[in-house]
Amino acid sequence: VYILGIETSCDETAVAIVKNGTEIVSNTVASQIDSHKRFGGVVPEIASRHHVEQITVVIEEAFQKAKILWDDIEAIAVTEGPGLVGALLIGVNAAKGLAFAKQKPLIGVHHIAGHIYANRFEREFEFPLLALIVSGGHTELVLMDGHGSYDLIGETRDDAAGEAYDKVARVLGLPYPGGPQIDQLASEGNETINFPRAWLEENSYDFSFSGLKSSVVNTIHNAAQRGETLNKEDVAASFQASVVDVLTAKTYKAAEHYNVKQVIVAGGVAANQGLRAGLEAKFNDTLIPLLIPPLNLCTDNAAMIAAAGFVAYEQGKRSGWDLNANPSLLMK
Ligand code: ATP
Ligand code: MG
Ligand code: FE
Repeated sequence: VYILGIETSCDETAVAIVKNGTEIVSNTVASQIDSHKRFGGVVPEIASRHHVEQITVVIEEAFQKAKILWDDIEAIAVTEGPGLVGALLIGVNAAKGLAFAKQKPLIGVHHIAGHIYANRFEREFEFPLLALIVSGGHTELVLMDGHGSYDLIGETRDDAAGEAYDKVARVLGLPYPGGPQIDQLASEGNETINFPRAWLEENSYDFSFSGLKSSVVNTIHNAAQRGETLNKEDVAASFQASVVDVLTAKTYKAAEHYNVKQVIVAGGVAANQGLRAGLEAKFNDTLIPLLIPPLNLCTDNAAMIAAAGFVAYEQGKRSGWDLNANPSLLMK
């Protein structure tokens, strides 16, 4: 069963064709990073305009690379939310138009369910499983009892991990997107500053990164006022150590508590070398298998949307012609 996936929730115009939810046949991503860089972040209006310009080209490219025909496609899966409404609308309307013209079932997919299903290209899921989602807009621990079932057991009370990375990077004068830049600097530095770790209440699986972010920003400003410049590599390494400590410890605690068969990691920050190493070191000593997607499947792509769409398709879920972009869609 071939599913066509479309993803336009932020600044990547992405189209993919996936076989049986586990095999990538083609995975095309047109990134807009260069257009947003000079503004230091994603500009929603520019993002929508780029999606309009790119979407048909990217769809054609996905078919060319896959060497399959429209007749082979069983259904069209598209990100319906959450994300930027103007950006989502381009993908949703492209998907609706194509589904109507080609007479294919239409399936709306939650963007974060997509991030989770990027792991299924690695290995078959075994339930119950625990998913750590760390992206630009989300930091969550989700327990899954089966395909398409999501139980939120913890989430950030303020900033997402990726958001904290991007803000700290900006204060350090690094270009957007800051996550990969900090990751690189951190690998060249040492943890010389003891930044706070927000553990919250004893049994909470929630997160908080705004205190850490403020602490980093204040430390940099205070040093500047004293006429000192801190070593950027060390600031990055110290910040990252705090993020990785909390994410790793809470994920481990939840994995033990819920006695899960697998732990999977999802979202852009799952590309972080420090986090990957931290989680691998922690779970290596246990019997719980850890899955982390390859770097290109951690950040936004459409293969993950097609993979999540396949599961929904098999479960008989279909969207109607009233499918609409929903910037604050909840995961059910
Ligand atoms: P969401 O998925 O929550 O809607 P999004 O789609 O914008 O948000 P993703 O594409 O999943 O987010 O991830 C982008 C985020 O990941 C950015 O904040 C970016 O800085 C961060 N990121 C990417 N690579 C790394 C890395 N190597 N280390 C740390 N952060 C990273
Ligand atoms: Mg992005
Ligand atoms: Fe994302």
